[in-house]
Formats: sequence, structure tokens, C-alpha cells
Amino acid sequence: MARQEAAYQIKAAVVREKSGPFVVEPVDLSEPRDDEVLVDIVATGVCHTDIGVRDQSYPVPLPAVLGHEGAGFVRKVGRNVRKVAPGDRVILTYDFCGVCENCQQGQPGFCREFYARNLSGARPDGSSALSMNGRAISSCFFCQSSFAEKAIASERNVVKIPSDVPIELMGPLGCGIQTGAGAVINALTPRAGSSIAVFGAGAVGLSAVMAAKIVGCTTIIAIDINDSRLALARELGATHAINGSKADAVAEIQAITNGGARYSLECTSVPRVFRQAVDCLQIPGTCGLIGAAPLGVEVSFQMSTILFGRTIQGIMQGDCVPDVFVPKLIEFWRAGLFPFDRLTRLYPIAQINDAIHAAETGAVVKPIVVFRSANDHA
Ligand SMILES: [Zn+2]
Ligand SMILES: [Zn+2]
Repeated sequence: MARQEAAYQIKAAVVREKSGPFVVEPVDLSEPRDDEVLVDIVATGVCHTDIGVRDQSYPVPLPAVLGHEGAGFVRKVGRNVRKVAPGDRVILTYDFCGVCENCQQGQPGFCREFYARNLSGARPDGSSALSMNGRAISSCFFCQSSFAEKAIASERNVVKIPSDVPIELMGPLGCGIQTGAGAVINALTPRAGSSIAVFGAGAVGLSAVMAAKIVGCTTIIAIDINDSRLALARELGATHAINGSKADAVAEIQAITNGGARYSLECTSVPRVFRQAVDCLQIPGTCGLIGAAPLGVEVSFQMSTILFGRTIQGIMQGDCVPDVFVPKLIEFWRAGLFPFDRLTRLYPIAQINDAIHAAETGAVVKPIVVFRSANDHA
């Protein structure tokens, strides 16, 4: 790759090979462009998409700096940036173009340039913001690559947050948490009194459970194979919990709901579970698909299952406009309605591989890697 100009030497967690460790080492970061924002990262959540890309389920070229739930302080802005200024507290979310038909219709999660802007390992023009020893490496992961002390984002994917909330906890709002909560609040939009079955009680599924309670679902069924996560789901609002490794989830849901759930959410990426999430629906019923299986994975359904009024709805990033939705999630949290902080655990950057391992084993729902103290900027 071409030689890159470097402006800042920073510490970052680099994935050098497929399924390899995250190695904390120095890399070079360029200056932000006119439409970009330089952010001093305080902390970044670990999402399963980081792990999937490390394992090359999505072919971001390696070596790469991943991380896409960053939170920090704006350090510098390009000359065309109006939304934020140095010193602002921000979280970083996914990027979108802002001008395609879907962006203009308020669905930036379906931006026509979503892949190029979030998963190509470079800016849409192919340039990289990161290099090592003068050679470009993959950067701009979700327009941030925030497993690093500093990150370059765009004006679009920074979301300002209030100054009186714990910034180190807020990064996951930009991906996993908004994905689960938004799937319920923005995409499925259940009426109060509805039933919903949430398959997978990780960060996304548990956020969906909390959101289902907020919007007034009265039967909220969590399905997982981890009993401690099911216990947490109950504490966060699930009215029923099913261990899918011990029980026939579809039959149990049909029994609990007297014929099937009005809504379901698939948050596991497992084809067999996706089929259960459709088969457990009443008529009519809607299954929201959130789980991101590796490219090429297929699933089968009986055609008649769908024909009789069941809908499968693909949902990206909770169907939300982050500048609008993230502040709402923070207000829900303030009001005690959305205690997503109960899912989190903080790790210093030196322990990033422990944080990744905890996410993989399910020991921690939402590990967060800390790069600097929030007080560094107070
Ligand atoms: Zn994510
Ligand atoms: Zn777009």
C-alpha cells in the first residue's frame, strides 16, 4: 500500500492475523480531513462484530485496528465540521453517507454505502488513516477504529452526549445497545400489551428486553443457553426465561403466549435459532433479524409458515438515527428505565485480550476497554 503521512503516534490494539490476539503497539494516525473529527478515546466497548472481523467472517484486510463503540473527547475538528467542537464529549457510532435515498428517508442504517464506510478497512476513497512504519493498515472500522488512544471519525458518526454522564460507559450506546433497543422501539414498534420473544440474552438481546419493558410489552420472553444471563434478563424486565438447551423453546413460547408471540427478535446469528424465532410467532407476527451470521450462511423455512402472515424484518443498527436516538437512551438510563450499565465491566487497555475472551465466553455481557481516565480532560 501507499506511504501515508503520519501526524500522531498513538497506542492501538492491532489484529495482525486471522483469529490472532489484539497486540497493543504504536501506530501512526493522520490528521483529520476537512469533514473529520479527531477524538481522544476514553473507552471503547467490545462488540461481537469485532470478534467476527478478527476471525474474518467479514473480510476486513489485516492487520487492522478494530473497535467501533468508542467514547471520548473531541480533540480537533476539520474546517467544515459544525456539529461538534474541541472539548465536546461524544460517542462514535456507524457511518453513513447522508445523501442516498435511504439516508434522506431517515434510515441511515440502510445507507447504500454502509459496507464501504464501515467494513472496508479504509475511507470510502480507499485511503487509510492509520499506518505502521509508513505502510497503511486497515483503519476507519465503522469510521473510527477506536481500540486506540485516538480515533478519526466523520462529522456524521459522532454523537454529542451530556457532560454529566459517565463517559467511559457510553460507547456501547453507539452499536450494541442502540441495535437492541432500537430494534424494538424504532423497528418492530410493538403496541403496549404485546408479547415478544428475544432469542439471545447478550448485550443486544438484553437491551431489547429493557426496551420491550419501556414500550409496555407485557409478555417478554428471553431465550438463551446461559442461565446467569437468563437471570439477568429477568431482573431487567423479562417475564419469562427459557434455557434453549434444555427445553423446546418454540413449544414453550406457544404455551406461554397461548398460540405464539406477536414479535420475536433473533440476536444469536445461529440459523437453527433464527428458524425458532420465526416458528414461535403467532399469525400475524413479525420476527426481527439482528444476528449477523458470516457471509454465505443460509437458513430454510417452510413457505407456508411465512405465507400465513408472518414477516421477517432485517434490522440494522436498531433502525435509528443516532443523533436522535442515543440522547433518548441516555434519558431512559437517567430515569432508571434502561440500566444498561449493569451489562458492562471495565478493563484497562493492557487487558484487552481478557476483555475479548470475556465477551466470547459470555462471562461478561459488555466488556469495555479503557484508554484514559475521563478526568484527563476534566
Ligand atoms: Zn457492533
Ligand atoms: Zn447513505
